Amino acid sequence: MTDTIRTAVITGASSGIGAATAKALAADGYRVALLARRYDRISALAEELGNGAIAIAADVTDRDQIVAAADRVQDELGGADVLVNNAGTMLLGPFSSERREDYRAMVEANLLGAITTTEVFLDQLKAGGGDLINISSVAGRTARATNGVYAATKWGINGWSESLRQELLPDIRVTLIEPGVVDTPLPTHITDEATRDAVQKSYDAATVKPEEIAEVIAFVLARPRHLAINEVLLRPADQLG
Ligand code: NDP
Repeated sequence: MTDTIRTAVITGASSGIGAATAKALAADGYRVALLARRYDRISALAEELGNGAIAIAADVTDRDQIVAAADRVQDELGGADVLVNNAGTMLLGPFSSERREDYRAMVEANLLGAITTTEVFLDQLKAGGGDLINISSVAGRTARATNGVYAATKWGINGWSESLRQELLPDIRVTLIEPGVVDTPLPTHITDEATRDAVQKSYDAATVKPEEIAEVIAFVLARPRHLAINEVLLRPADQLG
């Protein structure tokens, strides 16, 4: 960790919560490394943010790409102090063989992607005291019909995070962020049309903005090193489950 400027790596920085987190951390003085598959978006954001921000095209399901990204972060920014595991996808729908590719995609990106990105960046985070922020969900603590595999990935993130918290303390603080409905394009990728239309309706009415989640992440990271906020569950005030 550098004395003054900290470096934050954010996966899924091309959209929604990830892009908002990149902006919030850059505003707090972090140098940010933006990772996502859509390079045009992250390179435009890096340019907008300035202050040494870099964009790296990387798919979290491809370990070689994450290793290459970590090498660049080490060489160009001196290593990561903060890793925000945010990349993810929410492919809801009735449980069926028709959606088996969705299930694999969610497990590979949401769960295995976060695990892989963390093991690849772990030595950088350990070098001097770091922070690991895992973006889970209310679906990491609840479950309902049609969200089973998505919930499984987020419950997986929760269990893994608690184990890591114990293993890595006090050098690395581990924080779970568990949002309810946030106004992002997350439901647009749902492959089951009826489910997509229904979920989109609740997102059309979403009151919580990604910037509000980003503010919470920035607050967590700004606490003095002796204080770890390990879990934040946050919902729109009128969200029941
Ligand atoms: P968005 O769809 O706006 O953003 C998802 C991000 O994940 C994109 O930047 C996308 O980048 C990236 N991503 C997806 N798959 C991959 C992959 N294989 N490799 C690299 N990047 C990937 O949705 P949100 O901002 O809402 O979602 C961010 C996180 O927040 C997710 O983990 C989601 O589960 C979680 N969350 C969201 C909630 C909400 O209501 N919005 C509520 C609770 C949790 P690209 O396509 O360019 O690769």
